Amino acid sequence: MAEHRSKVLILGSGPAGLTAAIYAARANLSPFVIAGMQPGGQMTITTDVENYPGFPDVIQGPWLMEQMQKQAEHVGTRFVHDLIVELDLSKRPFRCVSDSGDIYFGDTLVIATGASARWLGLPSEKQFQGFGVSACATCDGFFFRGKEVAVIGGGNTAVEEAIYLTNHATKVTLIHRRDSLRAEKIMQQRLFANPKISMIWDSAVEEVVGKSNPNTVTGVRVRNLKTNALTDLAVDGMFVAIGHSPNTELFKDVLDMDENGYLITAPDSTRTNVPGVFACGDVQDHVYRQAVTAAGTGCMAALEADRFLAGHA
Ligand code: NAP
Repeated sequence: MAEHRSKVLILGSGPAGLTAAIYAARANLSPFVIAGMQPGGQMTITTDVENYPGFPDVIQGPWLMEQMQKQAEHVGTRFVHDLIVELDLSKRPFRCVSDSGDIYFGDTLVIATGASARWLGLPSEKQFQGFGVSACATCDGFFFRGKEVAVIGGGNTAVEEAIYLTNHATKVTLIHRRDSLRAEKIMQQRLFANPKISMIWDSAVEEVVGKSNPNTVTGVRVRNLKTNALTDLAVDGMFVAIGHSPNTELFKDVLDMDENGYLITAPDSTRTNVPGVFACGDVQDHVYRQAVTAAGTGCMAALEADRFLAGHA
């Protein structure tokens, strides 16, 4: 079990964590990035990215994260594949214990642990998770080649996943609980123009229907929320794309959070309620949640950590 010490300890390796690392490294603060549960963050489970500035042609999310990590390492970031499971923020240096048993001390801490996909919360959804129920089309879409699938949700993620799934599936049905989508207009246009996609509006999935031994999805039971009518839709898989919850379990009763678990930061700042602890990216942003805004707040966190260490905060 090794002990490591750094001036800036960064938890999370999405756009927020890696941008914080690039800025901290260039300020000679030799940051440590603990990659966390999903190295590269949510961008690694997306495909086409066409709204990250600087790239006129479509780029791939996993590729972008690889570039960010290389850039962070190139300027002096130490990057470790580990997960923090316990922390003590009562005194400095802050102490973080990892899954591997290593202990990381940070004179300052930048929290960039992001957010994770949400589930509907149905027992049948849990039963078939990994056997036809998924929250990541880019991870699991391949398994539905020549099959029919349902996607649940009405935001950008749901629309993006539905479009992506048409590369594999023969038919994609998007089921949304209201009669309009909240996804960007350009995404909606692409969705409605795709002949493989059909819509079920004003409806919620009540049950994933299937067989056991082995677990196989055969359909979803859908309730129309206006008429209350129940119908069974035959599908081989269901993709849940209903948003995300912040990864803040570790900080309960330690850092201030809002009612949805997002870390609260001071206005125009990444400062949390504990001096020397900064939060950036999706873990503290339930409004914008873009790679570029996460990168922006990652930059802020590193600049604020630098000022804090210099005694100017
Ligand atoms: P989101 O925008 O919060 O949308 C979640 C969707 O799921 C909403 O349509 C919501 O319905 C529905 N929903 C929530 N809880 C539900 C439940 N229990 N049952 C059924 N439906 C439920 O989440 P997101 O699509 O994951 O996007 C998150 C953020 O990332 C957004 O800011 C988005 O713009 C961004 N994003 C951007 C891109 C891109 O630019 N390429 C791609 C993906 C995501 P209601 O509409 O009725 O609330």
